[in-house]
Amino acid sequence: EQNHNRTVENASLQDLTPIEGDLIIRTEKLNKYFSDKHVLKDINFEVKRREVVALIGPSGSGKSTLIRCLNALEKASSGDIYINGEHLDPNLSVKQLSPIRRELGMVFQNFNLFPHMTVLQNVIEAPLLVRKMPKEQAHALGESLLAKVGLLEKRDIYPGRLSGGQKQRVAIARALAMQPRALLFDEPTSALDPELVGEVLKVMKDLAYEGSTMVVVTHEMQFARDVSDRVVFMSDGMIVEEGDPDDLFRHPKEKRTQLFLERVL
Ligand code: ADP
Ligand code: MG
Repeated sequence: EQNHNRTVENASLQDLTPIEGDLIIRTEKLNKYFSDKHVLKDINFEVKRREVVALIGPSGSGKSTLIRCLNALEKASSGDIYINGEHLDPNLSVKQLSPIRRELGMVFQNFNLFPHMTVLQNVIEAPLLVRKMPKEQAHALGESLLAKVGLLEKRDIYPGRLSGGQKQRVAIARALAMQPRALLFDEPTSALDPELVGEVLKVMKDLAYEGSTMVVVTHEMQFARDVSDRVVFMSDGMIVEEGDPDDLFRHPKEKRTQLFLERVL
């Protein structure tokens, strides 16, 4: 089992164990309405440092809305969100929100790369502009991250010439460039041709084994099962069930989880 490898094969075993109370993300009774549509219902969601959480569930169940609320891309209607212990107060200004938002790196389904910038420029744009990182340092960081996702040789080309899988790997490097505390992935492989899915999952798997804190919305059940520490199943705006990946996939307790898994497995 891959999940097992993460603890057994890694030298720094102690270091990889999530520490109780060391929460990077916490929501408390989070609710979200779009006009009168109740999309998130009393969501209590927690992610510990170095934990990999797979967020699964039918289309329309609120997965994207939940992670968009965590990153303040959507404003919660009620409830509380804490990122690394800091309250994401909906009344904060954009400027006040900015340092909290930087704690989380987002990777979207559709890459969202800047088409008029080279691969390297895409990766270092935020460190240069937001972190005011010196140019040379940003270049070195960008190159090391591109090497990490296997795309250093593409540094000077434009995203239009990359495959979908390569674009998504650049997007991951770009998210990492801000050195976030956690990465949030929203269906990172859903827009890809099937033969390109593996290279992106491989990069994500490497990040997981290095001890990155990750929330992954995905339909890749094998990935969820092999790589995540915990699976959270959402349906109709609620967390219906969560648990150890093997337990949840093998012995789902709730009827809705069973029906969903029967359809997707
Ligand atoms: P998932 O990611 O699980 O497919 P979403 O979070 O995208 O689900 O959507 C949850 C529900 O919220 C759906 O019914 C969707 O139609 C609705 N919704 C999402 N975004 C908006 C929006 N900006 N305005 C109105 N309704 C929305
Ligand atoms: Mg979604």
